[in-house]
Amino acid sequence: MTTAQQQLFIDGAYAAGAGAGAEPIAVRSPATGEHVGSFPRPTAADLDTAVAAAHRAQRDWAAVNVWDRAAASRRIADELDARRDALARLQTLEQGKPLAESVADVTEAAQLFRLHAEDAVRLNGETLLSRDSTKRMFTFHRPVGTWGVITPWNFPLLMFAEFAAPGLATGNALVVKPPENTPLTVLAAMEAVVAAGLPAGLVNVLPGDGAFGDALVRHRGIHAVGFIGSSATGAKITAAAGLKRSLMECSGNGPLVVLADADVAAAARAAVDGAYPCAGQVCCATERVVVHADVHDAFVAAVLRESERVVLGDPFDPATVLGPLNNEGVAAKMDRHLADARGRGARVLRGGGRRAGMPTELYYEFTVVDAVPEGSLLAKEESFGPVVPILTGRDEDDLLRIANDDALGLQGAVFTTSMKSAFRFVEELQVGQVIVNETNNWWDINMPFGGAGGRGTGWGRIGGKWTLLDMTDTRTGVISL
Ligand code: ADP
Repeated sequence: MTTAQQQLFIDGAYAAGAGAGAEPIAVRSPATGEHVGSFPRPTAADLDTAVAAAHRAQRDWAAVNVWDRAAASRRIADELDARRDALARLQTLEQGKPLAESVADVTEAAQLFRLHAEDAVRLNGETLLSRDSTKRMFTFHRPVGTWGVITPWNFPLLMFAEFAAPGLATGNALVVKPPENTPLTVLAAMEAVVAAGLPAGLVNVLPGDGAFGDALVRHRGIHAVGFIGSSATGAKITAAAGLKRSLMECSGNGPLVVLADADVAAAARAAVDGAYPCAGQVCCATERVVVHADVHDAFVAAVLRESERVVLGDPFDPATVLGPLNNEGVAAKMDRHLADARGRGARVLRGGGRRAGMPTELYYEFTVVDAVPEGSLLAKEESFGPVVPILTGRDEDDLLRIANDDALGLQGAVFTTSMKSAFRFVEELQVGQVIVNETNNWWDINMPFGGAGGRGTGWGRIGGKWTLLDMTDTRTGVISL
Protein backbone atom coordinates (compact mmCIF):
# COMPACT_ATOMS: atom_id res chain seq x y z
CA MET A 1 0.00 0.00 0.00
CA THR A 2 1.39 3.39 -0.94
CA THR A 3 1.66 6.35 1.41
CA ALA A 4 -0.80 8.22 -0.82
CA GLN A 5 -3.42 5.55 -0.14
CA GLN A 6 -3.08 5.92 3.63
CA GLN A 7 -5.49 8.84 3.53
CA LEU A 8 -9.19 9.39 3.35
CA PHE A 9 -10.90 8.83 0.00
CA ILE A 10 -13.29 11.68 -0.82
CA ASP A 11 -14.85 12.75 -4.11
CA GLY A 12 -12.80 10.39 -6.24
CA ALA A 13 -9.36 11.12 -4.77
CA TYR A 14 -7.18 10.31 -1.79
CA ALA A 15 -7.09 13.29 0.56
CA ALA A 16 -5.44 14.17 3.87
CA GLY A 17 -8.72 15.67 5.10
CA ALA A 18 -9.42 18.76 7.15
CA GLY A 19 -7.56 17.34 10.14
CA ALA A 20 -4.25 17.13 8.24
CA GLY A 21 -1.32 17.64 10.57
CA ALA A 22 -2.90 15.84 13.52
CA GLU A 23 -1.36 12.54 14.64
CA PRO A 24 -2.53 9.81 12.22
CA ILE A 25 -4.26 6.67 13.56
CA ALA A 26 -1.91 3.69 13.49
CA VAL A 27 -3.06 0.26 12.31
CA ARG A 28 -1.27 -2.74 13.84
CA SER A 29 -1.04 -6.36 12.74
CA PRO A 30 -2.86 -8.69 15.15
CA ALA A 31 -0.34 -11.38 14.19
CA THR A 32 2.84 -9.50 15.06
CA GLY A 33 1.89 -6.18 16.63
CA GLU A 34 3.82 -4.39 13.89
CA HIS A 35 2.70 -1.05 12.50
CA VAL A 36 1.21 -1.81 9.06
CA GLY A 37 -0.17 1.57 8.05
CA SER A 38 -2.08 4.59 9.22
CA PHE A 39 -4.78 7.05 8.23
CA PRO A 40 -5.82 10.56 9.28
CA ARG A 41 -8.79 10.84 11.65
CA PRO A 42 -11.69 12.30 9.62
CA THR A 43 -13.38 15.47 10.86
CA ALA A 44 -16.98 16.72 10.70
CA ALA A 45 -15.90 18.93 7.78
CA ASP A 46 -14.61 15.87 5.90
CA LEU A 47 -17.94 14.17 6.44
CA ASP A 48 -19.79 17.20 5.05
CA THR A 49 -17.50 17.27 2.02
CA ALA A 50 -17.97 13.55 1.37
CA VAL A 51 -21.75 13.71 1.71
CA ALA A 52 -21.96 16.74 -0.59
CA ALA A 53 -19.80 14.96 -3.18
CA ALA A 54 -21.98 11.86 -2.91
CA HIS A 55 -25.14 13.92 -3.48
CA ARG A 56 -23.73 15.61 -6.57
CA ALA A 57 -22.48 12.34 -8.02
CA GLN A 58 -25.63 10.38 -7.20
CA ARG A 59 -27.95 12.79 -9.03
CA ASP A 60 -26.10 12.14 -12.29
CA TRP A 61 -25.52 8.44 -11.59
CA ALA A 62 -29.22 7.73 -11.09
CA ALA A 63 -29.82 9.06 -14.61
CA VAL A 64 -27.14 6.84 -16.17
CA ASN A 65 -28.46 3.92 -18.22
CA VAL A 66 -28.44 0.75 -16.08
CA TRP A 67 -26.35 -1.08 -18.70
CA ASP A 68 -23.63 1.54 -18.36
CA ARG A 69 -23.79 1.32 -14.57
CA ALA A 70 -23.49 -2.47 -14.87
CA ALA A 71 -20.48 -2.10 -17.17
CA ALA A 72 -18.78 0.07 -14.53
CA SER A 73 -19.46 -2.61 -11.92
CA ARG A 74 -17.84 -5.25 -14.12
CA ARG A 75 -14.79 -3.01 -14.60
CA ILE A 76 -14.49 -2.65 -10.82
CA ALA A 77 -14.60 -6.47 -10.57
CA ASP A 78 -11.80 -6.78 -13.15
CA GLU A 79 -9.67 -4.17 -11.37
CA LEU A 80 -10.15 -5.95 -8.02
CA ASP A 81 -9.15 -9.27 -9.60
CA ALA A 82 -6.04 -7.62 -11.05
CA ARG A 83 -5.03 -6.54 -7.53
CA ARG A 84 -6.07 -9.75 -5.77
CA ASP A 85 -2.70 -10.72 -4.30
CA ALA A 86 -1.80 -7.25 -3.03
CA LEU A 87 -5.23 -6.66 -1.49
CA ALA A 88 -5.28 -10.10 0.11
CA ARG A 89 -1.84 -9.59 1.68
CA LEU A 90 -2.88 -6.22 3.03
CA GLN A 91 -6.11 -7.63 4.45
CA THR A 92 -4.24 -10.43 6.22
CA LEU A 93 -1.76 -7.90 7.59
CA GLU A 94 -4.45 -5.78 9.20
CA GLN A 95 -7.09 -8.44 9.93
CA GLY A 96 -5.02 -11.49 10.88
CA LYS A 97 -6.90 -14.18 8.95
CA PRO A 98 -4.94 -16.79 6.94
CA LEU A 99 -3.84 -15.53 3.52
CA ALA A 100 -5.90 -18.13 1.61
CA GLU A 101 -9.05 -16.76 3.25
CA SER A 102 -8.14 -13.21 2.24
CA VAL A 103 -7.57 -14.34 -1.36
CA ALA A 104 -11.04 -15.94 -1.30
CA ASP A 105 -12.53 -12.72 0.12
CA VAL A 106 -11.10 -10.57 -2.69
CA THR A 107 -12.34 -13.07 -5.28
CA GLU A 108 -15.81 -13.04 -3.75
CA ALA A 109 -15.87 -9.24 -3.59
CA ALA A 110 -15.17 -9.11 -7.34
CA GLN A 111 -17.87 -11.73 -7.97
CA LEU A 112 -20.36 -9.57 -6.09
CA PHE A 113 -19.75 -6.66 -8.47
CA ARG A 114 -20.38 -9.00 -11.43
CA LEU A 115 -23.45 -10.62 -9.86
CA HIS A 116 -25.14 -7.34 -9.04
CA ALA A 117 -24.31 -5.89 -12.48
CA GLU A 118 -26.42 -8.74 -13.88
CA ASP A 119 -29.15 -8.42 -11.25
CA ALA A 120 -29.45 -4.66 -11.83
CA VAL A 121 -30.24 -4.92 -15.54
CA ARG A 122 -33.12 -7.27 -14.66
CA LEU A 123 -34.56 -5.21 -11.80
CA ASN A 124 -37.83 -4.84 -13.66
CA GLY A 125 -41.06 -3.40 -12.34
CA GLU A 126 -44.56 -4.83 -12.76
CA THR A 127 -47.81 -3.73 -14.30
CA LEU A 128 -50.66 -3.96 -11.84
CA LEU A 129 -54.35 -4.52 -12.41
CA SER A 130 -56.65 -1.81 -11.06
CA ARG A 131 -60.22 -1.89 -9.76
CA ASP A 132 -60.74 1.21 -11.93
CA SER A 133 -60.79 0.44 -15.67
CA THR A 134 -59.59 3.97 -16.51
CA LYS A 135 -56.33 3.49 -14.60
CA ARG A 136 -53.06 1.78 -15.53
CA MET A 137 -50.57 1.17 -12.72
CA PHE A 138 -46.92 0.15 -12.86
CA THR A 139 -44.01 -0.13 -10.43
CA PHE A 140 -40.35 0.66 -10.92
CA HIS A 141 -37.28 0.78 -8.66
CA ARG A 142 -35.32 3.91 -7.90
CA PRO A 143 -32.15 4.35 -5.83
CA VAL A 144 -32.71 5.57 -2.28
CA GLY A 145 -29.91 8.15 -2.59
CA THR A 146 -26.79 8.37 -0.41
CA TRP A 147 -26.09 5.47 1.93
CA GLY A 148 -23.98 5.69 5.07
CA VAL A 149 -22.33 2.29 5.31
CA ILE A 150 -20.66 1.03 8.50
CA THR A 151 -18.55 -2.08 8.05
CA PRO A 152 -16.94 -4.49 10.55
CA TRP A 153 -13.38 -5.77 10.90
CA ASN A 154 -13.91 -9.49 10.16
CA PHE A 155 -14.32 -9.17 6.37
CA PRO A 156 -12.97 -5.69 5.60
CA LEU A 157 -13.19 -5.86 1.81
CA LEU A 158 -16.08 -8.29 1.32
CA MET A 159 -18.50 -6.39 3.52
CA PHE A 160 -17.65 -3.15 1.76
CA ALA A 161 -18.50 -4.95 -1.52
CA GLU A 162 -21.74 -6.35 -0.08
CA PHE A 163 -23.10 -2.80 -0.01
CA ALA A 164 -21.08 -1.09 -2.73
CA ALA A 165 -21.82 -3.65 -5.47
CA PRO A 166 -25.64 -3.61 -5.19
CA GLY A 167 -25.70 0.07 -4.17
CA LEU A 168 -23.75 1.37 -7.17
CA ALA A 169 -25.44 -0.91 -9.69
CA THR A 170 -28.83 0.45 -8.62
CA GLY A 171 -27.77 4.12 -8.81
CA ASN A 172 -26.94 4.95 -5.19
CA ALA A 173 -23.87 6.72 -3.76
CA LEU A 174 -22.05 5.64 -0.59
CA VAL A 175 -20.12 7.17 2.28
CA VAL A 176 -18.38 4.21 3.90
CA LYS A 177 -16.92 4.01 7.40
CA PRO A 178 -14.60 1.06 7.96
CA PRO A 179 -13.41 0.38 11.52
CA GLU A 180 -10.23 1.98 12.77
CA ASN A 181 -8.38 -1.34 13.08
CA THR A 182 -9.03 -2.59 9.51
CA PRO A 183 -9.34 0.45 7.19
CA LEU A 184 -6.42 -0.18 4.86
CA THR A 185 -7.77 -2.80 2.45
CA VAL A 186 -10.84 -0.78 1.54
CA LEU A 187 -8.75 2.37 1.16
CA ALA A 188 -6.33 0.52 -1.13
CA ALA A 189 -9.27 -0.92 -3.11
CA MET A 190 -10.26 2.63 -4.06
CA GLU A 191 -7.41 2.49 -6.57
CA ALA A 192 -9.47 -0.20 -8.37
CA VAL A 193 -12.54 2.03 -8.26
CA VAL A 194 -10.57 4.92 -9.79
CA ALA A 195 -9.01 2.65 -12.44
CA ALA A 196 -12.50 1.40 -13.35
CA GLY A 197 -13.48 4.97 -14.21
CA LEU A 198 -16.31 5.24 -11.68
CA PRO A 199 -17.46 8.88 -11.50
CA ALA A 200 -15.92 10.80 -8.59
CA GLY A 201 -17.99 11.08 -5.42
CA LEU A 202 -20.03 7.88 -5.76
CA VAL A 203 -17.87 6.06 -3.20
CA ASN A 204 -16.19 7.83 -0.30
CA VAL A 205 -14.22 6.06 2.44
CA LEU A 206 -13.67 7.66 5.85
CA PRO A 207 -12.45 5.17 8.44
CA GLY A 208 -13.19 6.07 12.02
CA ASP A 209 -14.42 5.11 15.45
CA GLY A 210 -17.94 4.55 16.80
CA ALA A 211 -18.50 8.26 17.46
CA PHE A 212 -17.69 9.07 13.85
CA GLY A 213 -20.02 6.25 12.75
CA ASP A 214 -22.75 7.82 14.87
CA ALA A 215 -22.17 11.20 13.19
CA LEU A 216 -22.41 9.53 9.78
CA VAL A 217 -25.70 7.83 10.66
CA ARG A 218 -27.19 11.09 11.97
CA HIS A 219 -25.95 13.29 9.11
CA ARG A 220 -28.91 15.04 7.44
CA GLY A 221 -27.56 14.23 3.99
CA ILE A 222 -27.52 10.47 4.64
CA HIS A 223 -30.75 8.90 3.39
CA ALA A 224 -30.16 5.30 4.37
CA VAL A 225 -27.88 3.25 6.61
CA GLY A 226 -26.20 -0.07 5.90
CA PHE A 227 -24.58 -1.87 8.82
CA ILE A 228 -22.82 -5.16 9.46
CA GLY A 229 -21.59 -5.70 13.01
CA SER A 230 -22.64 -6.63 16.51
CA SER A 231 -26.27 -6.51 17.68
CA ALA A 232 -25.36 -4.11 20.51
CA THR A 233 -23.94 -1.58 18.04
CA GLY A 234 -26.76 -2.27 15.60
CA ALA A 235 -29.31 -1.28 18.25
CA LYS A 236 -27.50 2.05 18.85
CA ILE A 237 -27.35 2.72 15.12
CA THR A 238 -31.05 2.01 14.71
CA ALA A 239 -31.85 4.45 17.50
CA ALA A 240 -29.69 7.12 15.84
CA ALA A 241 -31.04 6.45 12.33
CA GLY A 242 -34.63 7.19 13.25
CA LEU A 243 -36.85 6.86 10.19
CA LYS A 244 -33.97 6.52 7.71
CA ARG A 245 -34.03 3.45 5.54
CA SER A 246 -31.73 0.73 6.91
CA LEU A 247 -30.29 -2.67 6.12
CA MET A 248 -28.95 -4.24 9.32
CA GLU A 249 -26.99 -7.49 9.51
CA CYS A 250 -25.95 -8.15 13.10
CA SER A 251 -24.81 -10.95 15.40
CA GLY A 252 -25.66 -14.63 15.03
CA ASN A 253 -25.69 -17.52 17.45
CA GLY A 254 -26.78 -20.09 14.93
CA PRO A 255 -27.31 -23.64 16.12
CA LEU A 256 -25.91 -26.66 14.31
CA VAL A 257 -28.29 -29.50 15.21
CA VAL A 258 -27.20 -33.15 15.04
CA LEU A 259 -30.11 -35.59 15.01
CA ALA A 260 -29.86 -39.25 16.05
CA ASP A 261 -29.91 -40.46 12.44
CA ALA A 262 -27.16 -38.06 11.27
CA ASP A 263 -23.91 -38.93 9.56
CA VAL A 264 -21.95 -38.17 12.73
CA ALA A 265 -18.54 -37.97 11.05
CA ALA A 266 -19.86 -35.42 8.54
CA ALA A 267 -21.54 -33.41 11.31
CA ALA A 268 -18.33 -33.32 13.34
CA ARG A 269 -16.32 -32.23 10.31
CA ALA A 270 -18.88 -29.47 9.64
CA ALA A 271 -18.90 -28.29 13.27
CA VAL A 272 -15.11 -27.86 13.17
CA ASP A 273 -15.14 -26.37 9.65
CA GLY A 274 -17.61 -23.77 10.88
CA ALA A 275 -15.58 -22.74 13.91
CA TYR A 276 -12.05 -21.89 12.76
CA PRO A 277 -12.31 -19.77 9.54
CA CYS A 278 -11.55 -16.13 10.35
CA ALA A 279 -10.84 -17.47 13.88
CA GLY A 280 -14.59 -17.92 14.42
CA GLN A 281 -15.22 -14.19 13.92
CA VAL A 282 -18.05 -14.81 11.45
CA CYS A 283 -21.72 -14.06 12.12
CA CYS A 284 -22.75 -17.54 10.89
CA ALA A 285 -19.88 -19.48 12.53
CA THR A 286 -20.48 -22.62 14.64
CA GLU A 287 -21.69 -20.86 17.76
CA ARG A 288 -23.63 -23.74 19.34
CA VAL A 289 -23.90 -27.43 18.50
CA VAL A 290 -27.03 -29.16 19.80
CA VAL A 291 -26.56 -32.92 19.60
CA HIS A 292 -28.93 -35.83 20.26
CA ALA A 293 -27.97 -37.78 23.41
CA ASP A 294 -27.80 -41.09 21.48
CA VAL A 295 -24.94 -39.88 19.25
CA HIS A 296 -23.33 -37.49 21.74
CA ASP A 297 -20.29 -39.61 22.62
CA ALA A 298 -19.51 -40.57 19.03
CA PHE A 299 -19.92 -36.94 17.96
CA VAL A 300 -17.62 -35.55 20.65
CA ALA A 301 -14.93 -38.11 19.83
CA ALA A 302 -15.18 -37.22 16.13
CA VAL A 303 -14.99 -33.46 16.86
CA LEU A 304 -11.80 -34.00 18.87
CA ARG A 305 -10.29 -36.02 16.01
CA GLU A 306 -11.26 -33.35 13.45
CA SER A 307 -9.77 -30.64 15.68
CA GLU A 308 -6.30 -32.09 15.18
CA ARG A 309 -6.11 -30.52 11.71
CA VAL A 310 -6.70 -26.99 13.01
CA VAL A 311 -3.21 -25.53 12.91
CA LEU A 312 -2.84 -22.25 14.81
CA GLY A 313 -0.09 -19.91 13.73
CA ASP A 314 1.26 -17.18 11.47
CA PRO A 315 -1.48 -16.29 8.97
CA PHE A 316 1.10 -15.99 6.18
CA ASP A 317 2.29 -19.59 6.73
CA PRO A 318 0.43 -21.83 4.21
CA ALA A 319 0.12 -24.56 6.90
CA THR A 320 -1.92 -22.24 9.16
CA VAL A 321 -5.71 -22.46 9.07
CA LEU A 322 -6.35 -20.57 12.33
CA GLY A 323 -4.80 -17.14 12.73
CA PRO A 324 -4.93 -14.75 15.68
CA LEU A 325 -8.12 -13.04 16.79
CA ASN A 326 -8.41 -9.53 15.43
CA ASN A 327 -8.40 -7.55 18.66
CA GLU A 328 -8.22 -7.70 22.43
CA GLY A 329 -11.94 -7.01 22.82
CA VAL A 330 -12.91 -10.23 21.10
CA ALA A 331 -10.20 -12.22 22.92
CA ALA A 332 -11.39 -10.89 26.28
CA LYS A 333 -14.96 -11.91 25.36
CA MET A 334 -13.76 -15.46 24.69
CA ASP A 335 -12.02 -15.46 28.10
CA ARG A 336 -15.26 -14.29 29.72
CA HIS A 337 -17.46 -16.85 27.97
CA LEU A 338 -15.11 -19.72 28.84
CA ALA A 339 -14.77 -18.66 32.48
CA ASP A 340 -18.56 -18.50 32.73
CA ALA A 341 -18.93 -21.97 31.15
CA ARG A 342 -16.31 -23.49 33.48
CA GLY A 343 -18.01 -21.88 36.46
CA ARG A 344 -21.28 -23.56 35.47
CA GLY A 345 -19.72 -27.00 35.16
CA ALA A 346 -19.03 -27.23 31.42
CA ARG A 347 -16.08 -29.45 30.40
CA VAL A 348 -13.32 -27.90 28.31
CA LEU A 349 -12.04 -30.84 26.27
CA ARG A 350 -9.50 -28.98 24.17
CA GLY A 351 -7.89 -25.54 24.16
CA GLY A 352 -9.66 -23.09 26.42
CA GLY A 353 -7.35 -20.08 26.35
CA ARG A 354 -4.63 -18.10 24.62
CA ARG A 355 -1.42 -19.76 23.46
CA ALA A 356 1.64 -18.52 25.30
CA GLY A 357 4.88 -17.56 23.57
CA MET A 358 3.29 -16.09 20.44
CA PRO A 359 4.16 -12.63 19.04
CA THR A 360 0.88 -11.20 20.41
CA GLU A 361 -1.72 -12.19 23.02
CA LEU A 362 -4.35 -12.75 20.32
CA TYR A 363 -3.63 -16.38 19.39
CA TYR A 364 -6.50 -18.39 20.81
CA GLU A 365 -6.33 -22.19 21.00
CA PHE A 366 -8.97 -24.08 19.03
CA THR A 367 -11.42 -24.92 21.79
CA VAL A 368 -14.02 -27.67 22.29
CA VAL A 369 -16.42 -27.41 25.26
CA ASP A 370 -18.87 -30.15 26.20
CA ALA A 371 -21.83 -30.12 28.63
CA VAL A 372 -22.45 -26.42 27.96
CA PRO A 373 -25.42 -25.36 30.14
CA GLU A 374 -28.33 -23.74 28.35
CA GLY A 375 -28.15 -20.51 30.35
CA SER A 376 -24.41 -19.92 29.87
CA LEU A 377 -22.87 -17.08 27.85
CA LEU A 378 -21.46 -19.60 25.35
CA ALA A 379 -25.00 -20.82 24.70
CA LYS A 380 -26.82 -17.48 24.78
CA GLU A 381 -24.47 -15.00 23.15
CA GLU A 382 -22.28 -14.76 20.10
CA SER A 383 -18.78 -15.79 21.24
CA PHE A 384 -17.02 -14.83 17.96
CA GLY A 385 -14.01 -17.06 18.56
CA PRO A 386 -12.62 -20.48 17.58
CA VAL A 387 -14.86 -22.60 19.79
CA VAL A 388 -17.24 -25.54 19.38
CA PRO A 389 -19.71 -25.41 22.31
CA ILE A 390 -21.71 -28.65 22.65
CA LEU A 391 -25.18 -28.91 24.22
CA THR A 392 -27.25 -32.10 24.38
CA GLY A 393 -30.95 -32.78 23.83
CA ARG A 394 -32.93 -35.96 24.47
CA ASP A 395 -35.25 -36.08 21.44
CA GLU A 396 -36.18 -34.09 18.33
CA ASP A 397 -38.58 -31.77 20.16
CA ASP A 398 -35.98 -31.07 22.83
CA LEU A 399 -33.30 -30.37 20.19
CA LEU A 400 -35.62 -27.94 18.42
CA ARG A 401 -36.51 -26.21 21.69
CA ILE A 402 -32.85 -25.73 22.66
CA ALA A 403 -31.90 -24.63 19.14
CA ASN A 404 -34.65 -22.01 19.11
CA ASP A 405 -33.84 -20.76 22.59
CA ASP A 406 -31.71 -18.13 20.90
CA ALA A 407 -32.33 -14.42 20.67
CA LEU A 408 -30.19 -14.15 17.51
CA GLY A 409 -31.98 -15.85 14.62
CA LEU A 410 -29.47 -15.54 11.81
CA GLN A 411 -28.53 -18.92 10.35
CA GLY A 412 -28.67 -22.57 11.44
CA ALA A 413 -27.85 -26.05 10.22
CA VAL A 414 -29.22 -29.53 10.75
CA PHE A 415 -27.64 -32.93 10.17
CA THR A 416 -30.09 -35.73 9.46
CA THR A 417 -30.72 -38.48 6.90
CA SER A 418 -34.49 -38.08 7.20
CA MET A 419 -36.22 -35.90 4.62
CA LYS A 420 -39.09 -35.33 7.04
CA SER A 421 -36.82 -34.12 9.86
CA ALA A 422 -34.84 -31.97 7.44
CA PHE A 423 -38.00 -30.16 6.37
CA ARG A 424 -39.19 -29.83 9.95
CA PHE A 425 -35.99 -28.04 10.97
CA VAL A 426 -35.82 -25.94 7.79
CA GLU A 427 -39.31 -24.71 8.52
CA GLU A 428 -39.23 -24.49 12.33
CA LEU A 429 -35.76 -23.21 13.20
CA GLN A 430 -36.23 -19.50 13.90
CA VAL A 431 -33.44 -18.29 11.63
CA GLY A 432 -33.16 -16.68 8.21
CA GLN A 433 -31.44 -19.65 6.52
CA VAL A 434 -31.14 -23.33 7.39
CA ILE A 435 -28.40 -25.44 5.83
CA VAL A 436 -29.02 -29.19 5.71
CA ASN A 437 -26.01 -31.51 6.05
CA GLU A 438 -23.40 -28.77 5.77
CA THR A 439 -21.77 -26.37 8.22
CA ASN A 440 -23.87 -23.34 9.11
CA ASN A 441 -20.80 -21.28 8.23
CA TRP A 442 -21.86 -21.48 4.58
CA TRP A 443 -23.36 -18.92 2.23
CA ASP A 444 -23.65 -18.02 -1.39
CA ILE A 445 -23.61 -14.54 -2.87
CA ASN A 446 -26.81 -15.36 -4.73
CA MET A 447 -28.92 -16.19 -1.67
CA PRO A 448 -30.82 -13.80 0.59
CA PHE A 449 -28.70 -13.88 3.76
CA GLY A 450 -30.16 -12.25 6.87
CA GLY A 451 -32.01 -12.75 10.12
CA ALA A 452 -35.47 -13.98 11.01
CA GLY A 453 -37.70 -11.10 12.09
CA GLY A 454 -37.61 -9.76 15.61
CA ARG A 455 -34.79 -12.03 16.78
CA GLY A 456 -32.08 -9.46 17.55
CA THR A 457 -30.06 -9.92 14.40
CA GLY A 458 -31.37 -7.19 12.15
CA TRP A 459 -33.33 -7.04 8.90
CA GLY A 460 -32.89 -6.86 5.17
CA ARG A 461 -31.03 -9.31 2.99
CA ILE A 462 -27.43 -9.44 1.86
CA GLY A 463 -27.08 -11.27 -1.45
CA GLY A 464 -28.74 -11.73 -4.81
CA LYS A 465 -31.52 -9.52 -6.11
CA TRP A 466 -32.86 -9.08 -2.56
CA THR A 467 -30.18 -6.52 -1.66
CA LEU A 468 -31.10 -4.55 -4.77
CA LEU A 469 -34.69 -4.45 -3.57
CA ASP A 470 -33.52 -3.37 -0.10
CA MET A 471 -31.35 -0.60 -1.54
CA THR A 472 -34.03 0.84 -3.81
CA ASP A 473 -37.50 2.28 -3.35
CA THR A 474 -40.33 0.53 -5.12
CA ARG A 475 -42.24 3.38 -6.74
CA THR A 476 -45.55 3.37 -8.55
CA GLY A 477 -46.88 5.28 -11.52
CA VAL A 478 -50.63 5.55 -12.14
CA ILE A 479 -51.91 6.70 -15.56
CA SER A 480 -55.51 7.86 -15.78
CA LEU A 481 -56.84 7.27 -19.30
P1 ADP B 1 -17.06 -4.70 17.75
O1 ADP B 1 -17.88 -4.46 18.98
O2 ADP B 1 -16.64 -6.08 17.63
O3 ADP B 1 -15.94 -3.73 17.51
P2 ADP B 1 -19.04 -3.34 16.30
O4 ADP B 1 -20.30 -3.96 15.85
O5 ADP B 1 -19.11 -2.40 17.45
O6 ADP B 1 -18.03 -4.50 16.55
O7 ADP B 1 -18.36 -2.59 15.08
C1 ADP B 1 -18.84 -2.60 13.77
C2 ADP B 1 -18.73 -1.21 13.19
O8 ADP B 1 -19.59 -0.34 13.89
C3 ADP B 1 -17.35 -0.60 13.27
O9 ADP B 1 -17.09 0.09 12.05
C4 ADP B 1 -17.48 0.37 14.43
O10 ADP B 1 -16.57 1.46 14.36
C5 ADP B 1 -18.89 0.86 14.23
N1 ADP B 1 -19.53 1.46 15.41
C6 ADP B 1 -19.32 1.18 16.72
N2 ADP B 1 -20.15 1.91 17.50
C7 ADP B 1 -20.91 2.68 16.67
C8 ADP B 1 -21.97 3.64 16.86
N3 ADP B 1 -22.42 3.96 18.07
N4 ADP B 1 -22.50 4.22 15.76
C9 ADP B 1 -22.08 3.89 14.53
N5 ADP B 1 -21.09 3.00 14.28
C10 ADP B 1 -20.51 2.39 15.33
